[in-house]
Amino acid sequence: MAERSSIEWTDATWNPVRGCTKISPGCKHCYAETFAERFRGVKGHPYEQGFDLRLVPEKVNEPLRWRHPRRIFVNSMSDLFHEGVPDSYIAAVADVMVRANWHTYQVLTKRSARMQDLLKDRLRFAAAQAHIWWGVSVENKRHGLPRVEHLRSAPARVRFLSIEPLLEDLGRIDLSGIHWVIVGGESGFGARPMKPGWVVSVRHQCREQNVPFFFKQWGGVHKSRSGRLLDGRTYDEMPDALGANELVRKRHEIGDRLRLVAQGSLES
Ligand code: SF4
Repeated sequence: MAERSSIEWTDATWNPVRGCTKISPGCKHCYAETFAERFRGVKGHPYEQGFDLRLVPEKVNEPLRWRHPRRIFVNSMSDLFHEGVPDSYIAAVADVMVRANWHTYQVLTKRSARMQDLLKDRLRFAAAQAHIWWGVSVENKRHGLPRVEHLRSAPARVRFLSIEPLLEDLGRIDLSGIHWVIVGGESGFGARPMKPGWVVSVRHQCREQNVPFFFKQWGGVHKSRSGRLLDGRTYDEMPDALGANELVRKRHEIGDRLRLVAQGSLES
């Protein structure tokens, strides 16, 4: 697990699966593939096999060993619902998320039909948990909007959309049953441009439908230059479910402080 992540909407990443295959236009400049392929053939490196899909069983229990609560992006370097990942393995990952319930998990997929089916069946025990957020990627109308329908009909307690890279105007989006929307433009070499009007339209619909809105970045070849201001401000809203998790987080922090005070290593 990476203890810190530079991704704006998460704290850490956890990859019990590595590697993936492309499924839709949003994958064209997949950052995970670019990163992983850099290390293909490097003996002993976690990405020695490049971006080839593989399970990493020794990583499955990691969140249980991580004491401090974090928001964890699950499989930032893969897709948990990839057809090459067995149902039993996905269930084992979900079981850890349920047991290590002091963290908040952000599970994001483009294989939304499979996620929907499993949440209705084998993953039902995890679907109802407020600390596990289930999300789909939405890059365009044709591939992205059907994923929203899959997500909406899944029995998930917290549902979110990652609209990144936003490749066109999405038009009208039904956000009923959706608890959080992230929007971002593509970054890096060859990044496809994102028009401000497309972002403003999503923000407007989030406001109308009372859904928290997070603006991640404009992207582009130099994403640090284009930044993440929209109409002069940042948007870092989070799902309401976070309220409960913030309480858990604070409880742990207070517990830690009290322990240190009791040990005499911190002035009260
Ligand atoms: S689904 Fe995600 S991880 Fe897999 S290739 Fe596409 S962008 Fe990359």
